[in-house]
Amino acid sequence: MNKDCTNSGCECTPNQSIKCTVNNCAHHCQDTQYCGLTEIQVGTHETNPTMVECTDCQSFKLK
Ligand code: SF4
Repeated sequence: MNKDCTNSGCECTPNQSIKCTVNNCAHHCQDTQYCGLTEIQVGTHETNPTMVECTDCQSFKLK
């Protein structure tokens, strides 16, 4: 079990400031649509982001 895991066997405290629907992320609280991390990093894979699709959660970790 990854020590950074916050659900699927680990404790997950939903951070009500971080709504998220990416439930194949290891940090996602499966029963609620929230992230279990205390903070996340958001970034972009584009040089000139212009749309929501250009942004990424860089704290994502495949569970
Ligand atoms: S780390 Fe990012 S993708 Fe993963 S649950 Fe949290 S907000 Fe969602």
